[in-house]
Amino acid sequence: MEPERQLIAPCGMYCGVCSSYLAYSHQTPRIRGKITYCIGCRPRDKQCSWLKKRCELLREGTVEYCFECPTYPCEALERIDAGYRDKHVFGLIESLDIIRTQGEDVLLAVLKERFACNECGELRSIHSGKCYSCDDIKGWKD
Ligand SMILES: [Zn+2]
Repeated sequence: MEPERQLIAPCGMYCGVCSSYLAYSHQTPRIRGKITYCIGCRPRDKQCSWLKKRCELLREGTVEYCFECPTYPCEALERIDAGYRDKHVFGLIESLDIIRTQGEDVLLAVLKERFACNECGELRSIHSGKCYSCDDIKGWKD
């Protein structure tokens, strides 16, 4: 699997726009409870830190993406999706539907357009909107 695709989690989250992955990939100094590191859901070999506990198919690697599941979208996914749409303007089900209908490369292109930093063009965090290349982390409030 290509490195970028490897960062698309089973739930449709793209780890490349996750604060914890960006902190790790930029080697941002860790701040307890504020800046944590993650190498990405799939590279960690945890199919999904949120859904895994509830989903046997994800735990056992039966499905690669949630949309392959017979009960898609399940209640747990819908709950996380609602949170993302509400707080972060981009939903996981929207993301999964792009993958399902148009493929991973289209999703990556959509994300690059939506989350590119105006200054440097790198991806900003979906969680905070911060650019880990440009912004001064000492002034961050979240
Ligand atoms: Zn930037």
